[in-house]
Amino acid sequence: MPLFSLLLSVGGIKRKLCKSRVLLSGDSAGFVDSFCGEGIAYAIRSGQLAADAVSLKLHNNINLVKNYENLCNQEFLHNLKYSYYLSWLIHRFPNIFLKIFTQHAIVIDRYLEVPALKDTYKNYIKWILSRVPGFLLKSV
Ligand SMILES: Cc1cc2nc3c(=O)[nH]c(=O)nc-3n(C[C@H](O)[C@H](O)[C@H](O)COP(=O)(O)OP(=O)(O)OC[C@H]3O[C@@H](n4cnc5c(N)ncnc54)[C@H](O)[C@@H]3O)c2cc1C
Repeated sequence: MPLFSLLLSVGGIKRKLCKSRVLLSGDSAGFVDSFCGEGIAYAIRSGQLAADAVSLKLHNNINLVKNYENLCNQEFLHNLKYSYYLSWLIHRFPNIFLKIFTQHAIVIDRYLEVPALKDTYKNYIKWILSRVPGFLLKSV
């Protein structure tokens, strides 16, 4: 859980993604997974989406700012915001969550479904929060 990703990533500081002649992508836009620090895939994909948005503006006069934001939202922004919330929880309550993560293998196994794109951070957070009391009772 790199701390730099908490400062960089979406979900924390609110920022503009684009103006009429400037589009931010990758780290500059905050497209980083706050929990695992992954940013390469989002940098590549947001660059592709920025190119798509510029092309649609040039050929079909579609609103650049709104279109780029929508494209990023549809593909990954929502999930990245929840990666920020999970990191926030762990940094805010390390005694609880580090215990759970280190003592219950299922917590890690279940998390691995998120980077494998089989589940979302939102579902994972719901899943883990509803089990915190049970995990703590079973912890040593
Ligand atoms: C230590 C570390 C480990 C990481 N490990 C992983 C990992 O394992 N997996 C993963 O997915 N992500 C990882 N990341 C995150 C990942 O590296 C970034 O999210 C990703 O590289 C962002 O790509 P980018 O193109 O947005 O920015 P960058 O890769 O930072 O590219 C920005 C480029 O702009 C150049 N530049 C800056 N200012 C100017 C200027 N004024 N004029 C011209 N050029 C300029 C810079 O030199 C740089 O080459 C890691 C990050 C760090 C710091």
